[in-house]
Amino acid sequence: MSIEVKNISKIYGNQKALNQVSFKVNKPEIVGFLGPNGAGKSTMMKILTTYLDASEGDATVNGFDVKKETKKVQQSVGYLPEHNPLYLEQYVREYLGFNAQVYGVSKSRIDEVIQLTGLSPEAHKKIGQLSKGYRQRVGLANALLHNPDVLILDEPTTGLDPNQLVDIRNLIRNIGQEKTVFLSTHIMQEVEAMCDRVIIINKGEIVANKTLKDLRDEKEQVVIVEFDYRVEDAFLLKLPKVKSVKNTHDFIYEITFETSEDMRSHVFDFAHDNQLKILQLNQKNASLESLFRELTS
Ligand code: ADP
Repeated sequence: MSIEVKNISKIYGNQKALNQVSFKVNKPEIVGFLGPNGAGKSTMMKILTTYLDASEGDATVNGFDVKKETKKVQQSVGYLPEHNPLYLEQYVREYLGFNAQVYGVSKSRIDEVIQLTGLSPEAHKKIGQLSKGYRQRVGLANALLHNPDVLILDEPTTGLDPNQLVDIRNLIRNIGQEKTVFLSTHIMQEVEAMCDRVIIINKGEIVANKTLKDLRDEKEQVVIVEFDYRVEDAFLLKLPKVKSVKNTHDFIYEITFETSEDMRSHVFDFAHDNQLKILQLNQKNASLESLFRELTS
């Protein structure tokens, strides 16, 4: 087991940021740690990377105890903290070279991580001259320097443009082929694009722990429909196999069905039979979104 967390709690002053949290992460595996802002994601990651002590409970990373074997944990883990703190005045190679010395890794490893993270075209520049996407790559390169078995990435894609997002996601997916990646995010699509499993945390407590495969197999779907005027929820609840209806905006409704059958044609027929005009009709990847909403709202 690469990460094992048992009944971890963290109390800041009089606030409980984590409450009896337990989970495991295998190797290789990419696990998304999903939760609203303030749920406790960063706190958990800081405990796993030995930056913070838990108030209660135990955790091991790569078999090493985060309280008693901090050095060994640090040697096993590559950490990309939230906001990726970098020295903007330093050159990329200079920054990585400095950290390589701290970790005691060879200079040839710097070239390897530069290549691995696609940094080569920008490696001669100052960090302050790089785009946000390339700065994230520098952070990842730094996390990978000592070739750790476990990577802990705190919101690795925040603030990236769509192209950078695709690049970094591909990079993380590749890394996850052979390592353990535990990454936090509050973006559900991120989990769908990258992860094997999702652990959802809300108000310091784990509320779900499921493989993406299991989620895909669950028989539930959401159809988003926009009509040309308001419709009562109760009216839409007459649709077959409907579970719930939510009016999300103006005349837009999210209808959750308890079936994997595509229900759009039923919504279309329903609108036609009731003289409603449809302005848009889409199916949404239901399970993760509805699970997240259900568990964290
Ligand atoms: P997330 O990463 O999911 O956004 P955090 O772990 O950063 O959540 O925060 C969890 C809760 O703990 C929040 O309510 C936050 O305000 C609180 N918190 C985080 N760090 C501190 C701190 N150093 N002192 C006091 N409260 C904190």
